[in-house]
Amino acid sequence: MRELLLVRYGEIFLKGLNRPTFIRALVKRIKHAVKELGGKVVMNDSRIFVSDCSDIDEAIRRVTKVFGVHSVCPAIEMDKADFEAVAAQAVKMMEGLTGTFKVSSRRSDKRYPLDSPTLNAQIGHRILVANKALSVDVKNPQHVLNVEIRDQAYLYCKVVPAVGGMPVGTNGRATLLLSGGIDSPVAGWMIAKRGVHISAVHFHSYPYTSDRAKEKVLDLARILSESCCGIRVHVVPFTKIQMEIHEKCPEEYTTLIMRRFMMRIAERVAHIEKAEALITGESIGQVASQTMTALGTTDMVVDMPVFRPLIGFDKREIIDIAEKIGTMETSSLPYEDCCTVFTPRHPATHPKMDKIMEGESKLDMEALIQEAIDGIEIICC
Ligand code: ATP
Ligand code: MG
Repeated sequence: MRELLLVRYGEIFLKGLNRPTFIRALVKRIKHAVKELGGKVVMNDSRIFVSDCSDIDEAIRRVTKVFGVHSVCPAIEMDKADFEAVAAQAVKMMEGLTGTFKVSSRRSDKRYPLDSPTLNAQIGHRILVANKALSVDVKNPQHVLNVEIRDQAYLYCKVVPAVGGMPVGTNGRATLLLSGGIDSPVAGWMIAKRGVHISAVHFHSYPYTSDRAKEKVLDLARILSESCCGIRVHVVPFTKIQMEIHEKCPEEYTTLIMRRFMMRIAERVAHIEKAEALITGESIGQVASQTMTALGTTDMVVDMPVFRPLIGFDKREIIDIAEKIGTMETSSLPYEDCCTVFTPRHPATHPKMDKIMEGESKLDMEALIQEAIDGIEIICC
């Protein structure tokens, strides 16, 4: 007899030819999640089992964060041949519970001598005799004891809901523009949840932005990494570009021109990472650089899709997700971002293309971009 985790995945994505690829990717991600705990992951009989973890609660915490996992059930695996032992274990698992219950058996091994209704009745009867505080309700029970008869018997009653989504790596790659703010980690998480492998680019304006600000961004990447399975963060030195813009471009256009630089550099990073799209944490009207016209002028400089999963979200809704995924506390640390240095007093909300072009014509764009790319530091989180 041993304790293990039975991992359930979202059935909805499993139709058709993609099924084996999906499951292989999921097993790989779960292996990665429990590696440090010594966990073993096996696929058996259309179920994924995780065993031998040094800390079962920590294993549950980690596995429920893996995209593609629907729920995790801490289960007991035992020899199905000894029915009395199986029933005794069932009684033990229902000890101390009150209210209503049912036994839900599934006999995958059709050679097993007891069928599901018989298993339900016999185990249910023993539980009723042992625990007078429980009564049976097959329609709407408070507790369900699941008994699965496969190559072994598996018993579980607790179902821990997991994050859902699709396994990372089953839907291509994208590069996230990751700031230290609240929005961009949430945006990255939402796209990664759809099975997209994420890399990140962060613009750092040392000494205007401190090393602590950079550490904060890396901490955010580490938090995301628990679900996203490793994120390579490209830290781009951005001070020179910002200084040049500040010196040579009209003040109300500095933010937009800076954002256009960010997009161009992010696109090059995306090529290095073999990513097919960019992700930002923008939402319509949140700040001056996020009016529809402004967003249009930044889209224009890149040749790949730009995903903005938060485009229609209010700040409150974004904060709710940030709290749920565990990035809020770190995002709230009060360190500066390169967007907050050199901010114009009156940024253009209805920018004119000719003004942008005029500003950019004063800069040696290609040399500045190349220098920034050459100075990239890559950190694996
Ligand atoms: P966030 O909370 O994500 O910082 P924000 O509301 O502060 O968003 P902006 O500062 O205008 O908005 O940034 C908009 C988007 O631009 C961010 O969501 C992020 O994708 C990207 N961005 C901003 N600053 C940086 C940076 N220093 N490095 C990388 N990307 C950035
Ligand atoms: Mg920001």
